[in-house]
Amino acid sequence: MSSKSQNCDLPIHIMEPEPERKRRSVASKLNIARGEPPAFKETASIQEIKRDLRKIREYARDNIASLVGELEINVAKKYPGVKISSARDAAQAAQYIARAGEGTMAVSVNNSAVITQEIRPELINRGFSVSSPYASEYEIGAERVRDYWGLPHLLEKGIAPNFGVSRKLFGLDHTGEAAPVKDYLAVLGVNAISADDGTVFFVQHFHNILRDLQEAKKVFLVVGLDKIAKSREDAAFVAECIGIFGMESMLLGLRPKDKTATGQEAAPLSNITNRELHLIILDNGRSKVIESKFRDLFLCIGCAACNQHCPIRFSFDVDYNWTPRVYLGHYLRGTGNSLDRCLHCQACRVDCPLELDLPSMMWQAKMDRNQPRKLRQKLLGTPELLAKLGSAAGPVANRLVRSKIIRIPMEKITGIDRRANLPKFHARTFRKWFKDNG
Ligand code: SF4
Ligand code: SF4
Repeated sequence: MSSKSQNCDLPIHIMEPEPERKRRSVASKLNIARGEPPAFKETASIQEIKRDLRKIREYARDNIASLVGELEINVAKKYPGVKISSARDAAQAAQYIARAGEGTMAVSVNNSAVITQEIRPELINRGFSVSSPYASEYEIGAERVRDYWGLPHLLEKGIAPNFGVSRKLFGLDHTGEAAPVKDYLAVLGVNAISADDGTVFFVQHFHNILRDLQEAKKVFLVVGLDKIAKSREDAAFVAECIGIFGMESMLLGLRPKDKTATGQEAAPLSNITNRELHLIILDNGRSKVIESKFRDLFLCIGCAACNQHCPIRFSFDVDYNWTPRVYLGHYLRGTGNSLDRCLHCQACRVDCPLELDLPSMMWQAKMDRNQPRKLRQKLLGTPELLAKLGSAAGPVANRLVRSKIIRIPMEKITGIDRRANLPKFHARTFRKWFKDNG
């Protein structure tokens, strides 16, 4: 292996869902080869995993300046062939990609939030042709999981999905698999990175990330500040959590294959021999978040679990993976005008592995902009009163809320999606039942 390729050999680990036995065997092989402990103790409960995750994320939030410094120094020292840079905001990152891309205008991106909501709009503004192969990777004819009642509810059943490192790459000179290099740029948001040694982690559900790493002539890894963890072990742990807690949201987001989408398949072959690997450390408001009253948002790992039971998620016609976290993020960044559709039902807080109190943060953000509560928010913000009224009206209330004629105006007044599954009111309350049954 040439010294040049060694200089570019940044370790890139790809985590994928896989059967338990395979995961264990791959993990044990990796441990023998690399002396790495597995990300999770096999016996850890979900509560323990959440507790450890919070610890790792709080450490990162409280030490982010030194972690960024360590990452920059360590990558520059160990992998001088990797071109490392920092971007204050998404526009600056896009400007860097345009300059380093040297006229190549075809870009393939992954599905991470930092790319779909921060970098991609800036690339489009600059005239790049951006494709997302994620959307055309899987062959399904129709949406399989339409709403949360169709989900397998793995965590509630005590069955955590398995994610493990299935591929270990070393920079872009890893293959020996003779993948043809193509004439396009890949811009990929990483899921976690270790400040100690620069190991990058991706969570991959299909093959889009691996293909881009193998085929693009220049690869830009975008690292939001919130993706940096202290050690390789911590970064692996965070990435595994993204896989585990985000698995069911991923199922909700599956759409039929977009047959019109052209990804990197259509890109012409490139005769370039020196592929380039760039690492862009992106702030884009993250350090300001740490200094603000919303500092806990920095703990977010971007798993999208907050989306699972959110009753308003169908109300947004957007071309990215909408989540309550994203909704709040847009508002705080000034790219979203309102948070009025939120019903403050708390479902997102319950589903979040870090128990981030997004509903309260939404109130706070609105109060900061002096937006008084509307009637519907006052109504829906008092669920106890609604429950008492619904219980008193019993079967009549149930019939009404299930009638299509009522659901349309109800959606307009309350913001509750007409397709949402609503709880049933019972005339006999739990208190009454408990009293009668001792
Ligand atoms: S509190 Fe708001 S954002 Fe969170 S689940 Fe409920 S409606 Fe959705
Ligand atoms: S806020 Fe949402 S995306 Fe962030 S960690 Fe919690 S569940 Fe995951």
